[in-house]
Amino acid sequence: MTVMKFGGSSLATAELLDHALGIAAGALADGVVLVASAMGGSTDRLQRVANLAGSGDVADAGRECERMQREHGDTARELLDGAPLAGALAQLDALFDELRVIVNGMSALRQWTPRSNDAVLGFGERAVTVLLAARARQHGIEARLLDSRELIVTDNHFMQANVRQSETAERIRAHGRPGRRQLLVAPGFIAATEDGIPTTLGRGGSDYTATLFGAALGAAEVTIWTDVTGIMTSDPRLVPDALTQPSISYREAAEMAYFGARVIHPATIQPAVREGIPVTVKNTRQPAAAGTRIAADGASGAKAIAYKRGITLINVTSSRMLLAYGFLRRIFEIFEHHRTPVDLVATSEVSVSMTIDDTARLDAIAADLTEIGAVNVDHDASLVSIVGQDLWEQPGFLATAVSALEGVPLKMMCLGSSDINLSLVVADAATETAVRSLHRRFFEG
Ligand code: ASP
Ligand code: MG
Repeated sequence: MTVMKFGGSSLATAELLDHALGIAAGALADGVVLVASAMGGSTDRLQRVANLAGSGDVADAGRECERMQREHGDTARELLDGAPLAGALAQLDALFDELRVIVNGMSALRQWTPRSNDAVLGFGERAVTVLLAARARQHGIEARLLDSRELIVTDNHFMQANVRQSETAERIRAHGRPGRRQLLVAPGFIAATEDGIPTTLGRGGSDYTATLFGAALGAAEVTIWTDVTGIMTSDPRLVPDALTQPSISYREAAEMAYFGARVIHPATIQPAVREGIPVTVKNTRQPAAAGTRIAADGASGAKAIAYKRGITLINVTSSRMLLAYGFLRRIFEIFEHHRTPVDLVATSEVSVSMTIDDTARLDAIAADLTEIGAVNVDHDASLVSIVGQDLWEQPGFLATAVSALEGVPLKMMCLGSSDINLSLVVADAATETAVRSLHRRFFEG
């Protein structure tokens, strides 16, 4: 059987929903699990609803809910008629009533919590799957709607919950296995704790839902259907000559996702790796194009130039560090205490430079670091990475990278801790130049 995930931009209209079902119907012989993301833009709008509700603005929050309900209803009317339409509209009514109860509660208390945020954000996936299952049945497909909150079990780390792997796999195997010629429609992104409290897997988490299903069921393949032709050598908005990579390894895919390529959710690859299930990223608009296959092994050499803007660079300098021990431990304990991940680290005898992505606790971190040495915080930074298998085995790799960056001042450079990426920190304004020059040198001509 196969697992297919469709992203929000591939499910943005009635026509696109039909198109997605057509693709799923083509693979139905051995059964399909269709994992759906919310209709394009829905999750962002629900996030706005949650923010409005949390600040007590019940009127605006309510209006946005009504608009979303109307749009889902209009889509239902385009796709369905008769009893199936009435059934779907009744299901949507029930869903949006449930949403309004939560929104009213949050507004009355003027209370936003990560927990209520997750409950609100999940409605996009829940609503679109109602439409998909009903439309599939109207086409004569044997379709069943699953509730992922009953199958994907997580801890209560709301907004980015951690999946309890074995419990989840057991439940998927027991209740989420399609029969021959059967279509199971599952909302991506949403999950619940052991006690049934709704959680989410983090923004973009539907990919992860898909590989969780794929791994538990031993799927032949997981296909991520999106609006680009696969994983590209760089962001095509920045690099018009970016190419599609036909195949990359799991490690490269994870590294790219982590270093800013927005094609797949960073956790997606773990379940696939565990069970050795290939993941293919394909374009819904060009279904015949091969896309990118992500599997255990891959050729060596550079695969992509990824970048992440809005990085913060922190530098701690202290002459007391000279020939002393325990400094690094003290520095990292501060980050641990403030639950902030450090991405890159470079050290010299008297200073340590680190990058972080999450600046929520930056002030407190900087204050604590001052106890250790002089602290300098630089917000004007962007991370540019060359990702590829066995980079150091490529003759002249470093010289090529460095010469491509002639004229771009580097704030920091990290090589070698893994031979799968070379990471550079540059001024934000130099991002385009750095990415384009590296791309030209490694992939063009
Ligand atoms: N709809 C959710 C989001 O926009 C999950 C997903 O798209 O994968 O983040
Ligand atoms: Mg989405």
